[in-house]
Amino acid sequence: MDDQKDQKVVPDWLVEFHGHLCPFLVVGWRMGQEALSRLGVERERDQGLFLFTELGGEALRAQSCFEGGLQAATGCTAGKGTLRRLDFGKVAAVLAQPGAVAVRIALRPEVCDELAQADYAAERRQGKQASAVSRAAIADTVGRVARKSAEELFSFERFSVVHFTPEVANPARIRCASCGEYVFEHDAVTRGGHVLCRPCAGHPAAV
Ligand SMILES: [Zn+2]
Ligand SMILES: [Zn+2]
Repeated sequence: MDDQKDQKVVPDWLVEFHGHLCPFLVVGWRMGQEALSRLGVERERDQGLFLFTELGGEALRAQSCFEGGLQAATGCTAGKGTLRRLDFGKVAAVLAQPGAVAVRIALRPEVCDELAQADYAAERRQGKQASAVSRAAIADTVGRVARKSAEELFSFERFSVVHFTPEVANPARIRCASCGEYVFEHDAVTRGGHVLCRPCAGHPAAV
């Protein structure tokens, strides 16, 4: 069945991790695959490649699902500290090898328009959560992304020099004088002669 074939456009483990199958998960997966192939590198196992996504922001958006696909495809993840989120409001990303080359990939506006008109988007606008959208609408929208060529989906830009050197954190840590928890010295603050973590110091950035 075509439906089932279309459901296999990303690995099962990615759907499991992400929580549902959706068009922007597939956009990100394909974007990541293309970025790797254009840089001529394999999926990163360690911390040698960096991913800069351009959607950013804290507000919930259906499009941010592409960051899940990108992380899975490239191996550049929040967990490894190799994901940076730039707050540009665009479905685009840069994959970079520090000191070497980078590629920027952006979703073409025509594809955004097509996805916005698909039944999947209509069901989402009616208030359905992504995991509650009908199978037919999911298969249709995912198929639209899966069947397009890379050139139909994306525009590409290649950079031959990358001016980015990741900072390596100082491993020194200290116990907060108030809560007793370990805090990296770099992130600690001193108040009245006591070394404190930011939450205990009442730092404005603390939740
Ligand atoms: Zn999603
Ligand atoms: Zn503390």
